[in-house]
Amino acid sequence: MNFQLTEEQRLLVDATRRLTLETLEPILKRHAPDRSLPKQAMLEIYAALAEFGVTSMRLPADRGGAGMAALDFGLMLEQLPPVVAISLISHDGSTVRLSAGASEAVCARYLPDLTAGRKIACTATSEGGSGSDSNAISTRLTVRGERAIISGQKLWITNGSICDVMVVACTTGADDRGRPLNRRVIVDLHEAKNVTIREIPITGLRQGHLSEVFFDDVEVPVENIVGEPGDAGKYMTLMWNGNRPLLGLICAGIASRAYQIARDHCANRKQFGRPLASMQLVQQDLSDIETAVTASRLMCLSALDALDHGLRGNGTSAMAKRFATSQSLRAVDLSMQLMGALGTCEEVGLEQMWRDTRVFQVPDGTNGILALIHGREITSTAAFR
Ligand SMILES: Cc1cc2nc3c(=O)[nH]c(=O)nc-3n(C[C@H](O)[C@H](O)[C@H](O)COP(=O)(O)OP(=O)(O)OC[C@H]3O[C@@H](n4cnc5c(N)ncnc54)[C@H](O)[C@@H]3O)c2cc1C
Repeated sequence: MNFQLTEEQRLLVDATRRLTLETLEPILKRHAPDRSLPKQAMLEIYAALAEFGVTSMRLPADRGGAGMAALDFGLMLEQLPPVVAISLISHDGSTVRLSAGASEAVCARYLPDLTAGRKIACTATSEGGSGSDSNAISTRLTVRGERAIISGQKLWITNGSICDVMVVACTTGADDRGRPLNRRVIVDLHEAKNVTIREIPITGLRQGHLSEVFFDDVEVPVENIVGEPGDAGKYMTLMWNGNRPLLGLICAGIASRAYQIARDHCANRKQFGRPLASMQLVQQDLSDIETAVTASRLMCLSALDALDHGLRGNGTSAMAKRFATSQSLRAVDLSMQLMGALGTCEEVGLEQMWRDTRVFQVPDGTNGILALIHGREITSTAAFR
């Protein structure tokens, strides 16, 4: 075991940090901090990500992707602005969901533009009536001759309002043992009619895009149904296991930046005639924050490394995301507290970090559900299904 980055990993981290500082943050700063970025700005961001070679990191190389190790993807994502990182995770994961089991023709139609960052993808699974219980989706797929028809509603879809291609999880009923026969269907938003999309403002990641999507008898070609009946859940789980530690790492990255701001503040700010940093309780808080960030990072990196080694990742990924999101939130909160009123001031940026970190406790498994996934692995007993 080696805890040091390789030379290539160090270069990747440095290059991503530069990409963020020199290209991505200036684009974000040109727009209102509390409004979804216009699609044009997102395309500018995706063009930069494509030039950097990171728009389809987990897509296998024989499909035109980078086929990158999950650990390296995590090291990179940690350096991106969180709002860009969550969009990229959705886009990248969607290229994998779109291509697994899809025909060569379907891959040739969509993957080149997606990997070149000219188009953006998303995955739509959650619904008003089906969140943690993803098997309970009710968006219906019906096949009539050469056409597939989708009707239903999806909710909380990352990239929903800026995407060109959506991978939609649909139900076709259940098999004779009652197991859901959910399927993946590609909806091309440049061709499909009767799709309505509405953006939903949320607590954090406010320059991002979270949407409700309505499908009113939307017709797509039958070739756009990809994979086998019932395999939508399998591909969801595969991507969730990868996404969870990645989302945890993004939070650790935010918390680490909050920590640096608070530490500098404590070194300079004097109360009772001496720097805050010299007070025993302040040092304990700083120690708690750095411990939370370090432990979160290590747990997420270890979960990603396990996936890279082909190990079953359900429990470790769930444990890593739950720990990292909750500990990072605590670390950001403590950092804010160390700065007194300044910590709550918009200009300083910590309040946005706090709101952004909070949001990550929900997607790809709430912290409650992640505890149950981990618990199922520990006890071999499912408490929730
Ligand atoms: C920022 C963000 C991005 C997202 N991106 C996407 C996306 O791109 N695509 C997509 O399809 N979805 C996306 N989602 C939706 C997300 O996956 C769901 O919100 C999540 O799965 C939880 O579902 P829910 O919100 O309906 O909560 P619910 O399932 O209603 O859960 C509510 C609460 O009940 C608890 N709970 C539920 N069941 C149990 C149980 N059996 N035992 C104990 N407690 C339980 C949960 O832990 C939670 O605290 C996103 C959400 C957010 C916030």
